[in-house]
Amino acid sequence: MLNHLNHNHQSTYKAYHKLAAEICSEADVMKEDKAAVYNRETFRAINAAGFNALHLPDSLGGRKLSAMDTAVAYLALGASCQNNGLTFSVGAQAFSVNVPLMKYGNDALCNQFLIPSVKGKIVIASAITEKESGSDAYNMKTTAVKSGNDYILNGSKYYITNAPIADYFLIYAFTDVQKGSIGGLSAFLVDAKEKGVEVLGPIDKMGLRTAQMGGVNLTNVKAIARLGEEGSATAMFNEAMIWERTILSALNLGIVARVLEKVKKFGEENSRGGKKLNEQLEFITLINHSNSFLTQAWEKISDAAIALDQFPKQSFLKASIAKSFVADNGEKLIRSLQQATGAFGYLSENGIERDYRDFLAFTIYSGSQYVQNKIISSFSQ
Ligand SMILES: Cc1cc2nc3c(=O)[nH]c(=O)nc-3n(C[C@H](O)[C@H](O)[C@H](O)COP(=O)(O)OP(=O)(O)OC[C@H]3O[C@@H](n4cnc5c(N)ncnc54)[C@H](O)[C@@H]3O)c2cc1C
Repeated sequence: MLNHLNHNHQSTYKAYHKLAAEICSEADVMKEDKAAVYNRETFRAINAAGFNALHLPDSLGGRKLSAMDTAVAYLALGASCQNNGLTFSVGAQAFSVNVPLMKYGNDALCNQFLIPSVKGKIVIASAITEKESGSDAYNMKTTAVKSGNDYILNGSKYYITNAPIADYFLIYAFTDVQKGSIGGLSAFLVDAKEKGVEVLGPIDKMGLRTAQMGGVNLTNVKAIARLGEEGSATAMFNEAMIWERTILSALNLGIVARVLEKVKKFGEENSRGGKKLNEQLEFITLINHSNSFLTQAWEKISDAAIALDQFPKQSFLKASIAKSFVADNGEKLIRSLQQATGAFGYLSENGIERDYRDFLAFTIYSGSQYVQNKIISSFSQ
């Protein structure tokens, strides 16, 4: 993957690749995938290394990296650490939780929630999706009703990353159903131990098995605090998604790059029909196609990251372009790469089948292809 980066980014990539490799215990990934759980110590170590706060200012415990350098670091994380469920779990908190807290949290909320989250001391899960509203998230049923100085929440969230291990939730709820997404959506911090909170899960799933997914039922639950102004949460959610789409595109591109390296090695070491695979036209064409994908995908991710750093008005569109391109083409490419290794790629012990299952989730989370297409096409009308 290094060849696809410019000189400045290469040293950042190498540093984070080495750091992630040292932390991730590669030997246990197959076992952890089967058990559908990751080692919490590794999770804490990745957070302690700064991966969930690269983009935050140092006053909040962050590393002050630009979005561009954060993308490079996550590319390295994806390429280096084979436990994709673990890195996704870290990334989910880094962008869908830490970004809203950084942008909308006052000093008290930052001290109580953001800094402990950055240090890996607490887990906060971001919850917008419900069983009956995913791509059409603004059809959600969860409400927050003001009662004196408090807000009382009712509703149910599902498919929530980190829910079973969460200490707190960032819950999106309507404070004004009539206004809907335009001025009616608000965000709240909720204690997982608060009366009326029922945490569901972990839910078993096809890929990213080591990341814990669950749900949360809320029955007359008193929120700890509202995050941001009442009715401001649509913008907040969109900002979180711009970061998540941009940086997790880099994380997932790292997975593709790692699979490609395995397949290239397979081509070097295996012959069919009396000739090394990597000397055969079909195999060479696939490798060229893969390199072309890496170059194009990295261009699009860089565009999105530069927009985040310098041209924020363009970042919503660019993030969706990057996410859509990486998810859609990356999924097809990993399948082709897996096919190119025959049964080797089908065996759990070689990791490619796991990478495929894990990558497939990226076509759904951070907004499905349907959502990305809707965003992208809205800019051409
Ligand atoms: C690994 C993983 C992690 C996740 N983590 C989180 C998390 O941490 N927090 C969170 O809140 N959510 C999370 N999600 C949920 C995720 O955001 C949703 O799954 C995603 O938005 C898609 O929604 P959906 O699953 O309901 O499917 P949809 O995309 O809604 O698709 C279901 C069906 O409805 C159709 N459809 C969708 N919209 C429309 C429409 N407007 N009109 C007509 N047909 C339509 C689709 O074509 C499809 O046939 C996660 C999901 C996954 C897979």
